[in-house]
Amino acid sequence: MKNKIKIAINWAGACGGCDVAILDLEEKVFDITSIADIVYWPVAMDFKRKDLFDYDDKSIDITLFNGMIRTSEHKEDAQLLRKKSKVMIAFGSCACFGGIPGMANFTDKKGVFDCSYKDTASSFNPDNIFPEINVKKKSGTLTLPSFQNHVNTLDQVVDVDYFVPGCPPTYDIILKAVTIIAGYADNGDLPKKGTIIAGKNALCSECRRNNSMTSKVIEKIVRPHEKMIDPDICFLEQGIICMGPFTRSGCGSTCIDANMPCRGCFGPAENQYDQGTEAMSTFGSAVTTGQDDYIVRGEMLRPVNSIKDPLGTFYRFSLPNAIINKNMKDGK
Ligand code: SF4
Ligand code: SF4
Repeated sequence: MKNKIKIAINWAGACGGCDVAILDLEEKVFDITSIADIVYWPVAMDFKRKDLFDYDDKSIDITLFNGMIRTSEHKEDAQLLRKKSKVMIAFGSCACFGGIPGMANFTDKKGVFDCSYKDTASSFNPDNIFPEINVKKKSGTLTLPSFQNHVNTLDQVVDVDYFVPGCPPTYDIILKAVTIIAGYADNGDLPKKGTIIAGKNALCSECRRNNSMTSKVIEKIVRPHEKMIDPDICFLEQGIICMGPFTRSGCGSTCIDANMPCRGCFGPAENQYDQGTEAMSTFGSAVTTGQDDYIVRGEMLRPVNSIKDPLGTFYRFSLPNAIINKNMKDGK
């Protein structure tokens, strides 16, 4: 190892799970600290945002940035860290694709505020008080970051070099990222820009249940709690929606092994343009193939209609990147 490199870890619109996933490396965290000095990680150590301003441009080697971009502060942090860092890594599904909070793009700022501060059963807000950027108090003016109309992914606001998907990224995927970082510390080698640090094919390719898959039509869709799930049979065969065919591999099938279907957190597989659209079109054909009599009897839509929250199911992690999101104005 020539010199220790400098790493920053930052969270934006995040739940903290990505930071916990790094801590979950346990003694392997020392693999990181043996090759790198952590120069900024405000959620875990006593760093302040103003510390960032003191670093020279490009003086941080690698930034791991987790969380989506929703506020002006998230955006400013992303721009500042991009300026200060040689390599920017989108870490976790929120930074890569928008993630679970990206589903807020089914509405806008007003919809989010109404739901959070007014319309829920537990809200009492007769004066319609909502968060404001500047609030005058006797002691002075309180200033908050502005709230954008929609969620953005990290690469919608700054240039991103690499992507580490997962909600949160799994142990093995983080170790893969650490190996890449170690290679960089050792000899300056990096993978091709834009590399997604995960598998390439769809999850089904590495799923131990894939030999039980057939091309039979799904006649009834059920939710996981509605039946006893056979732990050896493909979920789709059992009428349970599994996003495996539309999701990048590399997670080690941890959900499948826990007898839960894939929810899609690794985003679309290589050569799949849009995860949700692929899923909707496949489920459309899985219902109709060879079943013209279903159409005649007007029953074709019955299994499709039994999908609860189809948009939330198919775009659970990737809405801000999806085709249907493109009509929304970025960063407003
Ligand atoms: S990717 Fe998942 S674990 Fe990471 S911040 Fe987003 S919601 Fe949390
Ligand atoms: S659909 Fe799901 S359960 Fe079936 S093979 Fe693919 S990943 Fe495995």
